[in-house]
Amino acid sequence: MILIFSAPSGAGKSTLVNYLLSQRDDLEFSVSCTTRAPRGQEVNGREYYFITNEEFLERVNKGEFVEYENVYSGTYYGTLRSEIERIENKGHHVVFDVDVKGGIHLKQIFGDKALSIFVAPPSVEELRRRLIGRATDSMEKIEERVKKASIEMEDSKHFDQIIVNDNLEIAKSKLLRVIEEKFCVIQK
Ligand code: ADP
Ligand code: 5GP
Repeated sequence: MILIFSAPSGAGKSTLVNYLLSQRDDLEFSVSCTTRAPRGQEVNGREYYFITNEEFLERVNKGEFVEYENVYSGTYYGTLRSEIERIENKGHHVVFDVDVKGGIHLKQIFGDKALSIFVAPPSVEELRRRLIGRATDSMEKIEERVKKASIEMEDSKHFDQIIVNDNLEIAKSKLLRVIEEKFCVIQK
């Protein structure tokens, strides 16, 4: 099975994905390539494979990505075919954390084998507060992400499930329930 998570930046997608991965050892995170620099405690090969623009475009030409997007002002992010193989060969289910366009694209590729989940913030104001509180981006980058969020919210209708991340504990239990239900449907 394939689990696809998308959200406007700051909605709490990483928080929820990390929680889910800590709860189930049959799921594994697909590590994407990006051309942005590592932030904070990020480690190459764990959160992302950090590569140069040149290498990214070379790998695009070699057909190594299932999908890729120019997510923020010239920064590329891409899902590697080799990650899917690596995870499926271990008998694990694949977890994707991708932007909204990438999420819609991956769902089109994998169809019923995939469950696509949109993590929504309770409001755009709260989203801005969370991004400021996270303190990982400049105010300019935060405004770019908040502006993009309003457009991304419109695309939530293309996802199988929407989880509103208002109260974190409630969002976590909803997430576990949604995944368990999907497993039951697949096993039937
Ligand atoms: P994303 O991966 O969607 O960009 P993060 O998971 O990094 O978002 O969350 C953004 C910030 O909001 C983080 O500082 C996180 O701790 C905080 N956060 C996540 N969920 C909640 C919530 N339900 N209520 C308040 N703060 C939250
Ligand atoms: P960040 O820079 O905050 O880690 O990520 C920015 C955005 O890029 C997030 O929405 C994240 O989900 C998305 N992203 C990460 N990897 C990929 C990928 O492989 N493909 C696409 N389309 N988006 C990605």
